[in-house]
Amino acid sequence: MHVPSLEVHKAATLQEASALLDRYAPDVRLLAGGTDVLVDLKSARYAVGHLVALGAISSLRGIAQGRNGLRIGALTTVTELDRSPLVAGAYAALRDATSQMATPQVRNAATVGGNVAGAVPCADLPPVLIAMGATAFAWSAMGERTLPLEDLIVGPRRTILRGDELLAAIDVPAPPPRFGAAYARFGLRAANSIAVAGVAAAVALNNDGTVASARVVLCAVAPVPKLSKAAARALLGRVLDDAACVQAAAAATAEAEPISDLRGSAEYRRRLVSTLTRRALLAARQRAGR
Ligand SMILES: Cc1cc2nc3c(=O)[nH]c(=O)nc-3n(C[C@H](O)[C@H](O)[C@H](O)COP(=O)(O)OP(=O)(O)OC[C@H]3O[C@@H](n4cnc5c(N)ncnc54)[C@H](O)[C@@H]3O)c2cc1C
Repeated sequence: MHVPSLEVHKAATLQEASALLDRYAPDVRLLAGGTDVLVDLKSARYAVGHLVALGAISSLRGIAQGRNGLRIGALTTVTELDRSPLVAGAYAALRDATSQMATPQVRNAATVGGNVAGAVPCADLPPVLIAMGATAFAWSAMGERTLPLEDLIVGPRRTILRGDELLAAIDVPAPPPRFGAAYARFGLRAANSIAVAGVAAAVALNNDGTVASARVVLCAVAPVPKLSKAAARALLGRVLDDAACVQAAAAATAEAEPISDLRGSAEYRRRLVSTLTRRALLAARQRAGR
């Protein structure tokens, strides 16, 4: 398998990238780390005549902590996120994902922006980021906009980004007091295996240990990362004990829309959702200090 003949345009700035996207649309894709797009081109999942390489745009790189939380540049690699000293404490759920994704070689090239904007249903970072209430910072020559991450991905490999727009950064809000988040996923091997199913959970607890807010997001069991509203409802106002976790797991399982494929049947995935929801919630509770 070869990558078909195409032109690669190196953008030096965001303006240049947006203008190139506009000029060559719809026969164009962005190229970040290339770990998805090059595989897709080789396997003829789609064909384009042009790639716009983002690698030279330094403003898209890096992780910064501000008063409002973390800003993760779209070109930040999974390895950089995994090793960042900022990814600790309330943000530790991000490392639950980055430490288990792919292989070290792939993680060195794969970017956070590519993982999110690629919108592949089994991608590991979107569910964690959505559980943590992250927003997407999108950029085009027409302007900037910020949107909840759960609104960005609208179908398998489909986002609401316009043709001339790119994902510039992800903002993860500063966590409230007594906050904990965790990601539990299951793959068929310990390394280099995509998630058969995954569940990200984030909770903030009141002083008395009852749940003040909760978000449970399912991975690889729906066309998009699935924010389970029923699971959150099952938790609100309750002490996060085993019974509450079991009820939330049942609610999450009922909202899953898994398919059967070579990695597992729909029924197997439903069972995974149940187990992984309980695991993620218990880990989140522990990180919240309970
Ligand atoms: C062997 C192997 C194992 C893998 N295992 C895992 C795994 O366990 N978990 C997992 O989640 N993923 C896995 N992946 C998938 C992949 O590595 C990740 O999704 C990666 O983060 C994609 O980032 P990238 O920079 O390589 O994206 P690219 O391949 O460069 O781009 C992916 C898509 O996103 C678009 N894009 C990229 N950047 C932007 C941007 N800033 N704005 C808008 N659109 C953009 C591209 O146009 C393309 O459509 C694996 C891949 C391989 C090859």
